[in-house]
Amino acid sequence: MSRDAVPPPVRLGDYLPPDWLIDTVHLDVRLHPTASRIIARLAMRPNPEGREGSPIVLDGDELSLKSLTLDGVPLAGTAYVVTPTALTLLAPPQRALTLEIETVVNPSANTKLMGLYRSSGTYCTQCEAEGFRRITYFPDRPDVLAVYTTRIEAEREEAPVLLGNGNPVESGAVEGTSRHYAVWHDPWPKPCYLFALVGGRLDRITEDFVTATGKKVALGIYVEPGKTERAGYAMDALKRSMRWDEEVFGCEYDLDVFNIVAVADFNMGAMENKGLNIFNDKYVLASPQTATDADYANIEAIIAHEYFHNWTGNRITCRDWFQLCLKEGLTVFRDQEFSADARSRPVKRISDVRLLKGHQFPEDAGPLAHPVRPDSYREINNFYTATVYEKGAEVVRMLKTLLGDEGFRAGMDLYLDRHDGDAATVEDFLACFADANGVDLTQFALWYAQSGTPQVTVSGCWDEAGRSYTLDVVQTLAPTPGQSEKLPMVIPLAIGLVGPDGADMPLTPDDGSNAERGVLLVTQPRQSFVFRDIAQRPVPSLNRGFSAPVKLTTDMSTADLLFLARHDSDPFNRFDATQTIALSHLVQATAAARAGAALPAPDALVAALGATLEDGTLDPAFVAQALSIPSETDVAREIGEDVDPDAIHHARTTLRQAVSGALAPALAAIYARHAPAGIYSPDAASAGRRALRNTCLDLLAAGGTEESLARAQAHFEGADNMTDCFFALSVLAHAAPQAREAALAAFHERFREDPLVVDKWLALQAQIAEPQALERVRGLTQHPAFAWSNPNRVRALIGSFAGLNPTQFHRIDGAGHDLVADAVIDIDGRNPQLAARLLAAFKSWRSLEPVRRASAEAALRRVAEKPGLSPDASDIVGRSLG
Ligand SMILES: [Zn+2]
Repeated sequence: MSRDAVPPPVRLGDYLPPDWLIDTVHLDVRLHPTASRIIARLAMRPNPEGREGSPIVLDGDELSLKSLTLDGVPLAGTAYVVTPTALTLLAPPQRALTLEIETVVNPSANTKLMGLYRSSGTYCTQCEAEGFRRITYFPDRPDVLAVYTTRIEAEREEAPVLLGNGNPVESGAVEGTSRHYAVWHDPWPKPCYLFALVGGRLDRITEDFVTATGKKVALGIYVEPGKTERAGYAMDALKRSMRWDEEVFGCEYDLDVFNIVAVADFNMGAMENKGLNIFNDKYVLASPQTATDADYANIEAIIAHEYFHNWTGNRITCRDWFQLCLKEGLTVFRDQEFSADARSRPVKRISDVRLLKGHQFPEDAGPLAHPVRPDSYREINNFYTATVYEKGAEVVRMLKTLLGDEGFRAGMDLYLDRHDGDAATVEDFLACFADANGVDLTQFALWYAQSGTPQVTVSGCWDEAGRSYTLDVVQTLAPTPGQSEKLPMVIPLAIGLVGPDGADMPLTPDDGSNAERGVLLVTQPRQSFVFRDIAQRPVPSLNRGFSAPVKLTTDMSTADLLFLARHDSDPFNRFDATQTIALSHLVQATAAARAGAALPAPDALVAALGATLEDGTLDPAFVAQALSIPSETDVAREIGEDVDPDAIHHARTTLRQAVSGALAPALAAIYARHAPAGIYSPDAASAGRRALRNTCLDLLAAGGTEESLARAQAHFEGADNMTDCFFALSVLAHAAPQAREAALAAFHERFREDPLVVDKWLALQAQIAEPQALERVRGLTQHPAFAWSNPNRVRALIGSFAGLNPTQFHRIDGAGHDLVADAVIDIDGRNPQLAARLLAAFKSWRSLEPVRRASAEAALRRVAEKPGLSPDASDIVGRSLG
């Protein structure tokens, strides 16, 4: 039986503590491809803080109940009620008791990939957010913490490897059978969403790690047979993460083993199950021939992220799913800091902000906008969003900016100490920072409650006679769904005043505020900040390091922005100054394109890009970022309404052509100077050189000259690593139609046995901005390499088309919208989570021009009308249309 009705919304304000607690869970899992048997023994007791005399209500989903006993005695059929979503014991004795529940599930038929399922023959589980109820009846909520012991049994031939949470206790043969078993015990109480088990035929690599206090931990990474050679980088990243968390946050690992398993069919990136992380294999497997530099960086970040959850998420978990950002925002912040320490901090910051603006800002501006901590949901699976993760991380980063390094660490130490073993809330988290620093964070907490991106407008005025400089700051926050009235936020605005010599002037505020640290505390709708002893006209450098996730508007001239692009001591703002000039040109050029006119590329912008390119003191990875022209999504977001993706594409292509033409000699020289020296290494410095060289290759090819396309062809043929090979392939695919098909065919022929590389090939073709893309995508859904059942394949092809090909997804004839709507309708019956994620690609549909807007709306309505639409998809479509 399945849940098919749209559930009523769950509201934060309705939270009640659980009526029953569970101290220990003993699971006996007998794996079988179509009938796995689970016997769960739960030691339960009434919660003193719960409602007295309550029934026991256990969640369930698609379970077949075989037997049920209370303290060893079978329960009479009148004592309990089973529905598709719950098992209820109507009048249980109000004392400690033991329930034993036997259920049977079919892992092979589990296409939702939630609960217990098989991926390429390997048994695995995914329980966050509500998958455990698909294994056994249980109070499936994060504030019920128990100690788990799990016995796993399987055919030895089918599943020689049996893994569970915690530490291994015993293993052996099941006498007289071809089966074997393993027992695992996890001493740390945990919510059921952190439960996991794995059974399969897997190879592994192992290493030891010695913790700060000298405890030895056995590390294992399990992969499909024959793929261990590609797991080395993940292992290296894991060990570095463990050391970093000890050094930076004082967090030491707490079990004897730590295992990671890579599986091919996975709805998410990875999952932090206690002691047994399960990963989408895309984020484990890497070799120079199959993974790009970006893949390596992602693997490093995601290995770190899931490992860091051991403290922020597992040792301290969430009271309820409204608090999801408590573990996710905080842990994203931690993995961002880890990558910043391991690589270039400015480059990491720039790429994180680009991600935020590219994904989270549009979410905040559209019908799916929600606070970092939502106050109601219909389907929690739909809240694993850029707002909860990336904006959630920005909120933690602002805390650090406000409190300083030491104050932040003091708050974190208190949090890790005070709430170890708890299921905590955002209020608990903030109270630690307030208590450790003696500050009031009441207004700051609005960042968790108010959705939308604050708009901050700043104007500066220099008083020559009075030798003072004034910054006038205005903040506003537009209404968002469900929130018509907004309160002013606390905005930590990091700034500098850059003097004519390019150096920062000393900041002497006239109000005794803490602006000496370079951070203005904006708390009012309007505020002025005056600085004394400013003898020369400064250029203000605002929101340095992107200190607050706001949309900043200034009255700065292009000349001032160019000055910052050359001199700002803050690398983020150096980057951002050029981006601001380019973006403002692209907005105007788009308007001109719609009117059938063309705007020449601004000389100042070309000159600024040229200066950055020629500045030999800059980090190549930084230059690569600084040379990038804002994306079509960036321009659409800046325009905000009546968006015509074709006009944006035209304006951006024209600008790239002009830059290419003007800077060709310099680009070619830098390209030549950064030719690879020695064998491939994924380290940050080498990756930065490749990024710059490839950016030059791309910009040169944007000019469309024969020479530049021949260069791309040679680059493709001569590449000895996936970064260069795939980058050249994408340059050819986008810029050289005549060379495209042969290059795509050669690439496929070479990597056809490797699904993760074939995903890149699928994704690239889905992104080609020409009308044939639609037929190409349709055709590829019939390709033997494609499978609707595998989320990675679907995301690569359909997800890339919807998310990264704006002109073709938003085709004026509506065919792009229809293709994605058809895919969503088709996928929804099998994998509702995947369908809902794809559907979220419509998030900015209201900002389109009227014809495309009507077509997007029609497609959404068609999805909405599909009989039996899942709660996941109907929630997204309902909010999108609402
Ligand atoms: Zn996470």
